[in-house]
Amino acid sequence: MQIEKIVAKTLVHDTVHKTQYHLNPYQGCYHDCKYCNGKSKRFYLHDEFSTKIRVKVNAPQLLEQFLRKKGFYPTNREHTDTLIDFVPNLKESTNSNLPSKFTLFIGGGICDVYQPAEEVLSVTRKLLQIAYDFKFPIRTLTKNSLVLRDIELFKKIHRQSFARVSLTATLADEEEQKIFEPRASTTEDRFLALKTLRDDDLPAGIYMTPLLPFIGDSKKNLEELFKKCKDSNAEFVITGGLTLRQGKQKEELFSVIRDHYPELLEKYAKLYLNNHPSGIPDTFYTHKLNLVDPIKMGYEMCKKFQIPFFEPRYIPVDKLQLNRRISTVLSRIAFIKSRIFQHSSLEAKRLQLDSILFETLTKDIGRMDKQKIHSLPVHKESIPHISNMLTNNECEYLLKHNEWENLFYVHN
Ligand code: SF4
Repeated sequence: MQIEKIVAKTLVHDTVHKTQYHLNPYQGCYHDCKYCNGKSKRFYLHDEFSTKIRVKVNAPQLLEQFLRKKGFYPTNREHTDTLIDFVPNLKESTNSNLPSKFTLFIGGGICDVYQPAEEVLSVTRKLLQIAYDFKFPIRTLTKNSLVLRDIELFKKIHRQSFARVSLTATLADEEEQKIFEPRASTTEDRFLALKTLRDDDLPAGIYMTPLLPFIGDSKKNLEELFKKCKDSNAEFVITGGLTLRQGKQKEELFSVIRDHYPELLEKYAKLYLNNHPSGIPDTFYTHKLNLVDPIKMGYEMCKKFQIPFFEPRYIPVDKLQLNRRISTVLSRIAFIKSRIFQHSSLEAKRLQLDSILFETLTKDIGRMDKQKIHSLPVHKESIPHISNMLTNNECEYLLKHNEWENLFYVHN
């Protein structure tokens, strides 16, 4: 592994909603997963993605600058730099006109922030320290048990706001796992890490994604993984299928299939030679080859093992919390209707659009008068759920489908 230190211009990437920001301090990933999105043309970084790891050495400064620019201050820091840093309560008031806090997702994009380089460089750790100093909630996702190194810091962050540390696990069989994820921690070690985090009362779940067609989505693999999730007290499970884009991602995965699963090569070719821009498999062959629907299957397995099939959302207590609760409800209904019950996708699309509307609304709906609420451009499909939330602060639809209980993360 070669480490190249770079001074970066950017670190923070926002999501559509701007209620979560992604931080990727590394470019490239030594774990070398054969299905890694980071190897596709779409996310192309450099040729030696798995061996030459670029690290943004100024990542901590970039994060600090970003947070200060948004109007926040390191109110937890022992040594403060400016006079305003001494007046923390200005920032913490729920009625202030200051912006709402958002979640910092450390990693989770196209690099693993606990890959081996982190052991020597500790950039992720420095980012966590800044999140603590500024009292920001965080999430992270990894395939490396090195994450346990920072458990005390996660606990500190969680005590003051929120910290969730999730792990990815796709294959229960260690030999198969080594074929596809050669330099990540073993599946066993990842579940041990999960159990340690859960024993320390930290929110932590499992991302089973991607479930490789005809390999990871087999009944045997899923049963074994779910059993491990149950034994490690996973907070939730999320499942997803494989998307395969053009470039090194597809080339490498096909080469591994050719070498280790030649009998599957033709099926993979049929599924993925459509070259869909987002890498999704061909719909015709998905049906023809009886490909398991990884989301529906995950939902059913979660019901069987009594594990939530959703990452309960943490919402900071502030003036926009009701808006965000409504947004989460609409988005969850859209997901259940379209992906699980396969109802009209137009209805789901409308619910999703209204979810974004509430996520980005800058005025508290709880303080709006009736006239103003009626003038909001929402679709008719959303109205009963919104009014349900406004009158009872709960959602009948999600209650009926046993999806309400774990929708939000509530601190004990
Ligand atoms: S751990 Fe994630 S970022 Fe790293 S190689 Fe694997 S899939 Fe890619």
